[in-house]
Amino acid sequence: MKTLDDLLRVGVTGRRVLVRSDLNVPLSKADGDTAREVTDDGRIRASLPVLEKLLDHGARVIVAAHLGRPKGEPDPQYSLRPVADRLATLLGRPVEFALDTVGESARLMADGLGDGELLLLENVRFNAGETTKDGELRAEFAEALALLTGGEDEGGAYVDDAFGAVHRAHASVYEVARLLPHYAGDLVQEEVAVLRRLTDDVERPYVVVLGGSKVSDKLAVIDALLPKVDRLLIGGGMCFTFLKAQGHEVGDSLLEADQVETCRRLLAEAGDRIVLPDDIVVSADISDDSETEVVRADAIPAGMKGLDIGPVAVHSFAAVLAEAQTVFWNGPMGVFEVRPFAAGTSGIAEAVTSAGGLTVVGGGDSAAAVRALGVDENRFGHISTGGGASLEYLEGKDLPGLTVLEEI
Ligand code: ADP
Ligand code: MG
Repeated sequence: MKTLDDLLRVGVTGRRVLVRSDLNVPLSKADGDTAREVTDDGRIRASLPVLEKLLDHGARVIVAAHLGRPKGEPDPQYSLRPVADRLATLLGRPVEFALDTVGESARLMADGLGDGELLLLENVRFNAGETTKDGELRAEFAEALALLTGGEDEGGAYVDDAFGAVHRAHASVYEVARLLPHYAGDLVQEEVAVLRRLTDDVERPYVVVLGGSKVSDKLAVIDALLPKVDRLLIGGGMCFTFLKAQGHEVGDSLLEADQVETCRRLLAEAGDRIVLPDDIVVSADISDDSETEVVRADAIPAGMKGLDIGPVAVHSFAAVLAEAQTVFWNGPMGVFEVRPFAAGTSGIAEAVTSAGGLTVVGGGDSAAAVRALGVDENRFGHISTGGGASLEYLEGKDLPGLTVLEEI
């Protein structure tokens, strides 16, 4: 795999370089005339080093990125405009912003770029060719993107730095890489290097903490990790399907009835390696002033929802984490967005930072939780920018965006 440094060694002054970045950040809700704002800029900050390197070396940088899930056509609520503003602030340099992806605005602005200048294209998912299953349409869009650089003959190059999108066979991630000399950006390299330490020659004890809302999203990773881990601690909305599989009632908590059987199988396979919470914070509703109660995990009252792990669970999870030499944490322990249900996630964040060895946080909401709850990011070994991508890597799946970078 060629890297950004390989490209810089050849020289990029005056060349147009298409960079795929992951700028898929949460925005404040649209509210009348007030513009939406970036509420967590972690992914933008993680994208800066590659952009800065290219600009410092005199490249003409064209950034392609997606935001949210628009339906293949322009949709103002998913505009990258607020991201362009934040990017300009963080870079401390002007950011040109194209009103389309490969249309007249993008073409004119790409042609007009000077050395060391940067253009951000509008959301690539405003073009149906980005995500469509129709390979021809994807290829067509990829070609138009590649052409913004002038193509290989005019010095065009492609750098993939969007780790959060490498599990997608999308035009701006996959097809376009085949049309231009292609390089892995620093963020992609760093993420892969860290994830490799969670799969090969792992230092033990290896403890994985999983939470979040849905078991079905994470079954594949549980299956893949179970044989490798010493302990798998399960909290969040997904623990209730496991508790049900143990024969307990879970009230009105999140439950995926069609996964109970699978959870029963996993529990049987895992022996004492899967650890479930001892106690649960329950409430009848979810609001900032909800009345809460802590109950034993095997005694959740009818009509109540389990919304966080309880203090005893935090304590026993923390005790396991204190012994760990490698930790991977994905998925909040409760509905951390609402104050009465944030303590479990805070407590586990704290415990993860206190573990020895390598500590990795993966998952969009988990990373946002760490920042929202005010835990110092630097106390973790690594906070992954890619939720789905990091899980699929750990599942041992083939990631199209990485595979294509290996091709010559
Ligand atoms: P990540 O993005 O880190 O992979 P997920 O998307 O899987 O995490 O899950 C995050 C969501 O899970 C959060 O919005 C949180 O509110 C929700 N969640 C956590 N615990 C519960 C629970 N007990 N009941 C309902 N939702 C929960
Ligand atoms: Mg999520």
